Formats: sequence, structure tokens, C-alpha cells
Amino acid sequence: PFIYLDGEYVPKSKAVVSVFDHGFLYGDGIFEGIRCYSGNVFRLKEHIKRLYESAKSILLDIPMTQEEMSDAVVETLRRNGYADAYIRLVVSRGVGDLGLDPRNCVKPSIIIIAEQLKLFPQEFYEQGLKIVTVPTRRNVPDALNPKIKSLNYLNNVLVKIEAARAGVLEALMLNHEGYVCEGSGDNVFIIKDGKVTTPPTYLGALEGITRNAIIEICENLGIPCEEKPFTRHDVYVADEVFLTGTAAEVIPVVDVDGRVIGDGTPGSMTEMLIREFRKTTTVDGIK
Ligand code: PLP
Repeated sequence: PFIYLDGEYVPKSKAVVSVFDHGFLYGDGIFEGIRCYSGNVFRLKEHIKRLYESAKSILLDIPMTQEEMSDAVVETLRRNGYADAYIRLVVSRGVGDLGLDPRNCVKPSIIIIAEQLKLFPQEFYEQGLKIVTVPTRRNVPDALNPKIKSLNYLNNVLVKIEAARAGVLEALMLNHEGYVCEGSGDNVFIIKDGKVTTPPTYLGALEGITRNAIIEICENLGIPCEEKPFTRHDVYVADEVFLTGTAAEVIPVVDVDGRVIGDGTPGSMTEMLIREFRKTTTVDGIK
């Protein structure tokens, strides 16, 4: 495989960054996860826009235009000959000294990795996931605002560890007020009496591009869908629960903290939304 590294396409074994890179030393940087389906880079423009907004928020000037960045993503896929792939785009503050001051960093490091990745095994799309809520809270402090896809993903890593310790693959974070926020790398939706609800991002959640796609699908199909705070109780008594994310796509949840959701199998509205989402993945993007 070839990795885009600062303007060049280098073999995987040669794709290395300095130990003085502030992305490594301080988690000082941002990233995106993007999917390509049958040669269609799904909602690439939205991902690039979010990347540049994350960069702006942390005062990181990316020395490329959004168009050049999009072209680099497409070219990385082309060079690897991938029609279906998961793409990881990383921009760090770059190589500096041991001090925090980013003014000593010469230029941002820009990395694009394309790989074949499926987050959850196929059986869970058919049977649904069991998940738990975990002690790690989704807080919303300044630069660690979950709306910024920064390289500071320690909370999310802890959620994965806490999920694994509970014997499940994914978990939900609450914020400090007890409202449900999101998973370690995905947004959450509940369905009750035909109404679809997802937490507003101000509670502490990334504005997921898959989340937005689901909200749009609901609007197009005339299904009521709102962004409204809810608690664990609302999840436990929901008719259906599902998660959304670039890597996970749309995946049903059938058990939360030992409470069986609905009849314990993926709900019919969730299955319909999965079908509708899959229809858009090969058309809604850049060829
Ligand atoms: N929440 C977090 C914390 C994430 O890292 C991601 C992954 O990007 C998501 C939600 C889902 O967002 P998207 O659908 O844009 O991939």
C-alpha cells in the first residue's frame, strides 16, 4: 500500500513521522475517517469541510486548499487501486521541539492512509450489538470539544477499553449531567413510537456525517426525526436503538446495560434506514 505523506506517495514501510511531531508528543492535530464505496468517496466534501473547521478551531493552518486535499484523497485511492476503502486523513501540527509552542513547528504533517476496514463483524449487522454505558464522561471543554475531531481521543480510547472489559464491542458515553451523548466513534439514535431522536451535538457529540445522512433520509421519507436530549432511561425503553459512523455505517443495538431493546432483534425501522443509507453510499459523493 502507498501512503500519502507530505505530498508524496510512499510505501507503507517507509511511511514514518518524527518522534518530535507534536501530533505524537501532544496529540496536537486533527483527523477524519472517510469511506469509499465502489469508487465513490462518500460525502468527501463534508469530511474535508469538517477537517478544515477542526483545524480552524485549533488554529492550525493547513497549507493546502480544500480542493487540493480532496484531490489527494482521491489520488491515494487511485494509486492503491481501491474501489472500497476506509480512509484516514491526519493533519498534525508537525515537527517541533519539546516545548508546547506550535510556532516552533516547521509545517503541519499531512497523512492519508487508505485501508480495507470493517469496524464490526457482519453478524452484528444482522443480530444487533449489545452495548453498555461507561463511566467515562463526554465533557465539552474548550479544545477538547467533541465537535473537533482532534488527535486527543483518550476519552474515546477509554470507552473502548471499558466496553471490552464489560464484554461488548461498543459503549455509550453520557455527559456530566447524565444525558446520553455518543459512542466511542459513533453517534446514537433511538426510535420510540415511530419517532427518531438523536442527541443535540451541544450535549457532547461529534456532528457525524453519517448522523446527518440519517437525519436527511428521515426528512426525505417524512419520518419524524429530532435532535433532543435524552437519558439512559429513554434508551432502555426505546423500541429501537442504532449507532451511526463512517466505519460502523448504521448498526442496530439490541441490548443496553442488560436491558433488551424491543424484542431483542434489530427493529424494522432501523433495517429500513440501513437499506436507505446503503442506497446513498454509492451516489452521495465524489467519483
Ligand atoms: N463520534 C465520534 C467521537 C467519532 O469519532 C465519529 C467518527 O467519525 C463519529 C461520532 C461518527 O461520525 P461520522 O459519521 O462522521 O463518521
